[in-house]
Amino acid sequence: MIVAEQKPLSEMKTLIGSAQNVLVVGCGTCVTVCFAGGAREAAITASALRMSTRLDGNGRNVTDVTVQRQCEWEYLDEITDQVAENDIILSLGCGIGIQAIAEHFPKAWVVPGLNTSFLGLPTEQGIWAERCAACGDCILGLTGGICPIARCSKSLLNGPCGGSEAGHCEINPDVPCAWQLIYDRLSSMGKLDLLLELQPPKNWRTSRDGGPRKIVRQDLRLVSEE
Ligand code: SF4
Ligand code: SF4
Repeated sequence: MIVAEQKPLSEMKTLIGSAQNVLVVGCGTCVTVCFAGGAREAAITASALRMSTRLDGNGRNVTDVTVQRQCEWEYLDEITDQVAENDIILSLGCGIGIQAIAEHFPKAWVVPGLNTSFLGLPTEQGIWAERCAACGDCILGLTGGICPIARCSKSLLNGPCGGSEAGHCEINPDVPCAWQLIYDRLSSMGKLDLLLELQPPKNWRTSRDGGPRKIVRQDLRLVSEE
């Protein structure tokens, strides 16, 4: 899932500026699951903004609504009237949801209520950890299902650096060394021979280095055009 966390209330207030009518928009998917921007958080944020601005002596009209997914036009259509009635939209969606609102409602001013952080998973209650950097050319088949791009602090492709110590990364003893994890898993699976294959420099054109990316599925386009 996409993992995000809320900006401090003070930053949200700065982003809202002098707007009188504020619509807080939550999203019912990834940010709901990571407790950053779902319906519950949207309601709490709206309430906090109402109280805080009132205490400042300039109370704002803050309402909230949550859509199933901010990143799909059909769900954004449902809030067209509410968007038009407000001066500003505080999106509690991820960076994609915020941009979708800006693109779908060109006259609406939208600001982020979250900091979108990474693609990860909940490893235990209250902890989310990065697992994928969306490099566009997945090599998990070579590494036992453990990503050295996202989980090695140096994104190394051919084994650990000299800083790996007792299974931990040199950046922080609380961080497991990704290459130790890879070694242990390949060892337990009897697949250590995979490590003998030297990986050439990765082609980063499929990642951010190649500019904004796009996937075109002609089969789906043809279906939708019929
Ligand atoms: S190799 Fe690339 S696509 Fe696969 S998990 Fe790692 S970052 Fe994600
Ligand atoms: S110690 Fe391990 S995880 Fe940390 S940078 Fe070196 S190889 Fe990567």
